[in-house]
Amino acid sequence: MTPLTSKVCVVGDFAVGKTSVTERFVNNQFSDKYLSTVGVKIDTKEIDSQALGMMHKLVIWDVAGSDEFGATEFAYLRGASGYIFVADGTRPDTLAVVEHLHGQITQTYGPAPFVLLVNKRDLESEWIVSDEYIDALADAYENVYRTSAKTGDDVEQAIRRLAELIVEKEVRSA
Ligand code: GDP
Ligand code: MG
Repeated sequence: MTPLTSKVCVVGDFAVGKTSVTERFVNNQFSDKYLSTVGVKIDTKEIDSQALGMMHKLVIWDVAGSDEFGATEFAYLRGASGYIFVADGTRPDTLAVVEHLHGQITQTYGPAPFVLLVNKRDLESEWIVSDEYIDALADAYENVYRTSAKTGDDVEQAIRRLAELIVEKEVRSA
């Protein structure tokens, strides 16, 4: 059987860790340097899917971030099977950006599976988003993870969860 292939888009405000989370997941690496992404960067990774009983190929589009998506960014999202929304736990305004982008994307392309990563969990002293707030978010968004691209905490779990959600949706609509 050929593996299932799914396009996944990583979106969120600038410098929240979209590229770092992708790099951690795909290559298990982290860099402290900040190189802002121009346009879009595409990576692929195959995971062994329990739910599918075979490989699941994720084509990950790391879309250059900002708080407001223009027509170009929106065009990159076309055909996405799921989304990785990323916010930065040291910058609460980045969660508002996620909420805004989630609304815009759902309006344009309809609902799709997603996970929300509140990233930079390793920066405890600067971490501002409270557990209560994240629990409240989890009520609304269900799959919320506190991640660190630096240490790797929960990055793989979060993206594997997204893959499961995508498979569940495909199976339901098959
Ligand atoms: P992007 O603009 O959303 O793609 O953000 P980047 O992945 O380029 O990351 C922005 C900056 O935050 C870089 O300097 C990264 O090294 C840093 N960064 C990203 N994720 C983490 C994390 O989990 N912990 C810490 N401490 N720094 C991070
Ligand atoms: Mg980037």
